[in-house]
Amino acid sequence: MTTPLRRQYLEIKRRYPHALLFFRLGDFYETFDEDAETVARELEITLTSRPMSKGERVPLAGIPHHALDSYLGKLIARGYKVAVCEQVEAPAKGKKLVDRRVVRVVTPGTLVEDNLLESAANNYLAALAAADGRWGLAYADVSTGEFTCLEGDEGEVAAELGRLGPAETLLPQGAAPPAALTGTLTPLAAASFAHKAAEAELLGQFAAASLEALGLAGRRLAASAAGALIGYLRENQPAVLGHVSRIAPQRPGRFLSLDASTVRNLEIFEPLRPGAEGAGRAPGAGREGTLLAVLDLTKTPMGARLLRRWLGQPLLDPDEIGERQDAVAFFAGSAVRRGRTAEVLVRTGDLERTFTRVSSAAAAAPVATTPRDLVSLRRGLESLPALRELIAEDGGEVAGRLLAELHTCGETAALLAAAIADDPSPGAVIRTGFSDELDGLRGAARETRQYVAELEGRERERTGIKSLKVGYNRVFGYYIEVPKARAGDVPAEWQRKQTLVGGERYTTEELRGHEYRALSAREREEETEAQLLRGVCSQVAAAGARILEAAGAAALADVFRALAEAASRYGYVRPVVDDSDVIAVRDGRHPVVERLVAESTFVPNDTELSCSDAQVIVLTGPNMAGKSTYLRQVALIALMAQAGSFVPAAEARIGVVDRIASRVGALDDIAAGHSTFMVEMLETAAMLNGSTARSLLVFDEVGRGTSTYDGMAIARAVVEFIHNRPDGASRTLFATHYHELTEVAASLPRVRNFSVAVAEEGGEVVFLHRILPGGADRSYGVHVARLAGLPRPVVQRAEELLAALENGAGEKEAARPGAPQLALFAGADEGLREDLAALEPDGMTPLEALRVLYDLAERARGPRT
Ligand code: ADP
Ligand code: MG
Repeated sequence: MTTPLRRQYLEIKRRYPHALLFFRLGDFYETFDEDAETVARELEITLTSRPMSKGERVPLAGIPHHALDSYLGKLIARGYKVAVCEQVEAPAKGKKLVDRRVVRVVTPGTLVEDNLLESAANNYLAALAAADGRWGLAYADVSTGEFTCLEGDEGEVAAELGRLGPAETLLPQGAAPPAALTGTLTPLAAASFAHKAAEAELLGQFAAASLEALGLAGRRLAASAAGALIGYLRENQPAVLGHVSRIAPQRPGRFLSLDASTVRNLEIFEPLRPGAEGAGRAPGAGREGTLLAVLDLTKTPMGARLLRRWLGQPLLDPDEIGERQDAVAFFAGSAVRRGRTAEVLVRTGDLERTFTRVSSAAAAAPVATTPRDLVSLRRGLESLPALRELIAEDGGEVAGRLLAELHTCGETAALLAAAIADDPSPGAVIRTGFSDELDGLRGAARETRQYVAELEGRERERTGIKSLKVGYNRVFGYYIEVPKARAGDVPAEWQRKQTLVGGERYTTEELRGHEYRALSAREREEETEAQLLRGVCSQVAAAGARILEAAGAAALADVFRALAEAASRYGYVRPVVDDSDVIAVRDGRHPVVERLVAESTFVPNDTELSCSDAQVIVLTGPNMAGKSTYLRQVALIALMAQAGSFVPAAEARIGVVDRIASRVGALDDIAAGHSTFMVEMLETAAMLNGSTARSLLVFDEVGRGTSTYDGMAIARAVVEFIHNRPDGASRTLFATHYHELTEVAASLPRVRNFSVAVAEEGGEVVFLHRILPGGADRSYGVHVARLAGLPRPVVQRAEELLAALENGAGEKEAARPGAPQLALFAGADEGLREDLAALEPDGMTPLEALRVLYDLAERARGPRT
């Protein structure tokens, strides 16, 4: 016969087939059956068994309840979901089975735990709905309360997903996820996405009368996704719904569009070659070599997250950008203000997430907040008046805007100060003096401890047994223990309780009385403290809207201060951002490369681009000259300017760019891991199709992934197309090693040739990194081969061959008498000469050059063997 406990377990488990069920039994979370086997294997804990019904033992693996967080972290990281089932009533006398309920299903997208989250990045839960080629996307970070949705075509939604990198994505059962979606996929019944159901969820959650009121009129797909997401949270993590209090549908056309491969190419968040500094690192572990790493001088995790968002979503409206610039200028103008603000912000900390944890603790059945959160929340709130004061020093518009939301939250701070101990420990979280009832109960417990402490001395004296001890254990309660040999000397009124190998344990009438008082006082003390805590958390939660608004303002101040700090440290200027069609930069620098090269060795360069004049820049120059760096530099300056940052230049004017799209030729695109020509062409097609006259296009060695003539033809066709299309003269940078491409400037009026200057000193190439008008007219591939360390005779011979070819020399002249390579041209192999002429030394990597040389040598030797 199945025991009631087993029946209860099976019933609950039935509802959570896809999660590991952590079943609370006293001080442990137990797992059974297959879950136990999985958990034992994954966590390397002991698998045992337990009799659960007559004649039947079931596998069992358990973890102590206080260790839940660390074990959860491991399981979530390995892709499991965990249903946490708590005892939701206290065990009562006479009732065998306590009520249990799953209070939360822990999934990658619903985490709030400090130790399971990366502090400087958001943790997104996304939901997707699609119909007729359109997509709805909703996403939330439940650890901060952010909740947004949007609609778009597949490309737009894919780009947004790339930016978000959701930890978990919900989609209808059977639907195909968009390509390259990372994180856990959680299929939901299609019914969750049905419009009516989704609408009901949304109206319920936000207490709204209609979808119009939520700004979702006519956006059915966005609403479907958003509703499904809310439904999922209600099922799995209801405690966080309290602070998901707003949905902010994303306004179409507010942000500069950046596709995933452009974000990668520009190394905004992740370096292209993270392996370079050590393979096998955790993703996101190192951000060195990225734009984010250079600019992130924030002092709070919420500021770091906000800056990250801004770099992924630069703005389009010059006025909105101007407001950010004003705020950066406000901090850039005073090093003292920056310094003092930094000191305050360190105390502000992660107000967003600490608040979120405290407020979800208020809703959870057992109070689950950590005392540490309450202390840091208090400290964070207490920093707000000082932050206000610093900002208010200047009565300008910037200050006004920040201050409007930077509430001091004094009442909540005062409540926490009064209620929470400065250095709380379990059982002593509520401050003495906050509650008379609790103080009274604590007093009783203290008296008992004192009585017990005195009892030992008193009884030793009375009985003369020097080794007498008073102790406590969970099963038998308080006892007096004496060694076996002295058992005869104990007073008659003592009652024997327990016999040990070496001693006897007794109790007395008096001790039992104290024990009863002590235990009930302790129990009531715990209960009272928990209740008081829950009250405090609910009061904090009730002030949520203002606290989150203040946290948002503090995050803004943090980002403005950080951007100002970067501007002053690295010598950035405030760019003019307007509705013109120019990109004009004087002495521009690459923000990341300039930090990586030796102090002040970075060579600044100018840029002049406009739709009507210099629309397309064709940039030529040998390998390693600095072409890629220059291209990215221009794109990054535009991106930084529109994010609100100052830029690395002496002067800059940016006519708003609606899209930055870049394509890096196959050989340079190492990180993508799929350097096929097909992918290159697909992405080029997408770039050409999706761009407007406002876009900025960056092509780096496109066409490289195919044969020389194909590549050249495609490169030229692309330039012509961009130049001639009637509907959009996108500003374009095109780096190429095909010198032939410089000829297009002759026939296309808005194409300009530039090249990266190199000098020769004593036969060696010196890279000057200076961009000059005009096409490169000399091939430096051989020099690069020398730099790469090819053996001297190889380089020398290559130089001879090159000179001969450039002079249009015939085979006889090239093959000087006596040269050992004579056979190369003297043979009947006419094809060899043609092949040589078609070689593109500039387009080769040193390795390729070497391979070609081996080939040639092989063919030359051929006839002799
Ligand atoms: P290319 O694309 O022409 O092969 P890169 O842009 O990759 O060349 O540049 C090669 C290296 O040259 C960079 O890693 C950097 O160290 C250096 N470099 C590039 N541009 C500059 C510059 N303007 N000033 C100083 N060093 C530069
Ligand atoms: Mg390059």
